[in-house]
Amino acid sequence: MLKKTTIRKRVRFNSSPKQDEFLRELKKRVDHYFHENKISKHANPQMVWKSIIGFGSWLLVYALIMSNLLSQFPLLLILAFTLLGFVNIFLAFNVMHDGTHEAYTDKRKLNKLLGYTFNFIGGNQYLFRLMHGAHHGFVNIQGIDVTLETHGLFRFTPHEPYKWYHRYQHFYTPVLYMFAHIHWVFIKDFKWFFVERSIGNVKNIKTPFKEYVILIGTKVIYLTLTLALPIIFLSAPVWLILLGFVSIHILPSLTFALIFQVTHVFEGTSYPEPDNNGIIDNSYAIHVLETTADFSRNNKTGRWLMGCINIHVIHHIFPEICHIHYPALTEILIDVANDFGLEYKENKTFWIALKKHIWMLKELSNPPAPELY
Ligand SMILES: [Zn+2]
Repeated sequence: MLKKTTIRKRVRFNSSPKQDEFLRELKKRVDHYFHENKISKHANPQMVWKSIIGFGSWLLVYALIMSNLLSQFPLLLILAFTLLGFVNIFLAFNVMHDGTHEAYTDKRKLNKLLGYTFNFIGGNQYLFRLMHGAHHGFVNIQGIDVTLETHGLFRFTPHEPYKWYHRYQHFYTPVLYMFAHIHWVFIKDFKWFFVERSIGNVKNIKTPFKEYVILIGTKVIYLTLTLALPIIFLSAPVWLILLGFVSIHILPSLTFALIFQVTHVFEGTSYPEPDNNGIIDNSYAIHVLETTADFSRNNKTGRWLMGCINIHVIHHIFPEICHIHYPALTEILIDVANDFGLEYKENKTFWIALKKHIWMLKELSNPPAPELY
């Protein structure tokens, strides 16, 4: 018999009127910004061009690989496959992420279509939406935020039970980040669809049959494009093409994981725990300010390439707004946070953010102090 979908423990934010006032004021000024500039909260022509450049670059790099011109030059072929991987993460940050948040356009079907960019790069939109939703709603809350859930492999929070190997995690975590994408392609999606079917505190999720068909169909398309067709049509040896296929996922995966992880797991973040009734005594917006940090906010090229994932605080508060507006909205956020005496967390460069991420991994690599009675 099929088990029923259940929620193990409901968690909710319980904010005070003063905390609500912060979000109300922020929304008012953000709305005013869009109204005054007479612009939509969704994509603008700049954003459409960016998407065209992204998909165009993918086609160009793929055509270069399939042209057979690089088959005699192993290093160049591996570099081209690696570049394809970087274009993939560009598409994930800039197109897929906005599509899955319904932020790209006000047309639901088009957002969904753009969200399938994740299937195009080897993942699965359906699962990503569920997982990313759990992350968004409950940032840094152990047991619900799935980005902290690694089956004990890493200790990303002080609430994660300590294992002996965690003492080395600041060494092995960056190495394992390199395998996050390939793990997603071959293991994570299948394990979830066929075995786990739970996200955070929601158990036995019923998944429509069509999602299984999409899962298998799009995995076949992905593997056909990136592995089967190169093996069939390129004159390069199979081992080199296999190496090329792996290269699509290694350095781009490390880049993807670090860009994301430094925004939540860093020296100075917090990991609030709900009380016995599942209450977090805070407003969601202030919780985001306490658990999230931006980096390289003024680096125009960086934020263009990263789809403003580096401007992450405003994204968590307004995920339904297209990322192209985040730099301007963050200026508003900083003003309002100042007015309310709230701290806005920011690292000027990626390297500072990375240092704080590694520091946090190192801090959490220590066994918890024994409780004193
Ligand atoms: Zn998001």
